[in-house]
Amino acid sequence: MYLGIDLGTSNSVIAGIIDGDVKIFRPVDGGEVLPSVIFFDKRGHRLYGRRAYDQAMLQPDAVAMGFKRLMGTATPIQIPATGMTLTSEECTAEILRQLLGQAATETGNAPIHGAVVTIPAAFNQLQREATMRAATLAGLSNVTLLQEPIAAAMSALGAQRRSGQYLIYDLGGGTFDLALVDAVEGKINVVAHQGINMLGGRDFDRMLVNEIVRPWLVTNFDMPENFQRDKQYHRLIRIAHLAAEKAKIDLSTLEQAVIFASSDEVRLTDNSGADIFLEVSVTRKQYEDLIREPIMQTIELTRQVMEENNYKHEDVDKIIFIGGPSRTPLIRQMVAGELGVQTDLKVDPLTSVAIGAAHYAATYQWGGQTPQPGVPAEARPRTPPDVVPDE
Ligand code: ADP
Ligand code: MG
Repeated sequence: MYLGIDLGTSNSVIAGIIDGDVKIFRPVDGGEVLPSVIFFDKRGHRLYGRRAYDQAMLQPDAVAMGFKRLMGTATPIQIPATGMTLTSEECTAEILRQLLGQAATETGNAPIHGAVVTIPAAFNQLQREATMRAATLAGLSNVTLLQEPIAAAMSALGAQRRSGQYLIYDLGGGTFDLALVDAVEGKINVVAHQGINMLGGRDFDRMLVNEIVRPWLVTNFDMPENFQRDKQYHRLIRIAHLAAEKAKIDLSTLEQAVIFASSDEVRLTDNSGADIFLEVSVTRKQYEDLIREPIMQTIELTRQVMEENNYKHEDVDKIIFIGGPSRTPLIRQMVAGELGVQTDLKVDPLTSVAIGAAHYAATYQWGGQTPQPGVPAEARPRTPPDVVPDE
């Protein structure tokens, strides 16, 4: 089998091509993607993905997350709860191992003929080398890197050797990345790329918390106007972020959602002794009004990149939307409408980078290297979905 791996800052995805068919190998918990998060408990056990992400909200000093941002730097990742220190390469290797385990489980350990790991277009040589070392550390041997926008374009083109110009609009958890790519008979090049380092889905969660949850709390409970400054409320704020994110994702398909956390989860009383909980209704319209301005920023940057490269809207065949927030209907409408470019409706924002990478792996000249055996069962990640192992 050939593998395509989207190693994301927030979420990672692994896809494979087996006998010409493409398949996404999901995490054991059944989620669509694997959050790139590791949780360390005091006894040395680790949890990965969704469960680690949920723990991150409750015990932020016991998790490693966001380590992709540190690839190629010497900055260590500290886990204060356990006193451990890891490198971003080690953390990345663990996520890779977890993903390889997903593929091995679903394919009965099929041999790997080649794996392609994607990296941002903006990654420099040090960041690339660090990613390669992480892949080696995870046990991959036939491996090569590919820029994310190229992978995205490949998933849109599939096996067709088409030509065309594409805008890759990638809005992730914490960053916006835009690329102009050019395909000539299936061969794809990045013409230009630009980004905003501090704009993504997490900002939208923060806006929901600040503009909707906080006013609701001070209206419904006896607590100070600026309660978030007080340390005892930090846990509540983190729970609010997690609940806001869930509601936000619901609003991509529903007109209305509830930002909810029970008093059992919150475990805190207000100044009059009442148990605090969250049950905040939010409409899609309310949410859209909050995010319009940051979306306009992404559109302005896109216009600027097109102008600098002498692209008119009629020169662009399609916009390809990548990243979780690109599932938001308003974002697709606004971006396509403002730029006057058609949307490619075939590609899924969350999985297409991995799928494109898998297509690339299947066509790459692997130079006659022998296929590496799959991940042997004893080397696979051990954490089953709902049990913490007890040794
Ligand atoms: P990254 O490239 O940073 O790894 P992703 O593309 O996985 O990130 O995007 C993560 C972000 O996408 C998170 O902020 C998450 O809340 C958001 N997200 C995921 N699914 C949806 C959805 N259906 N609608 C809106 N936002 C979503
Ligand atoms: Mg991404």
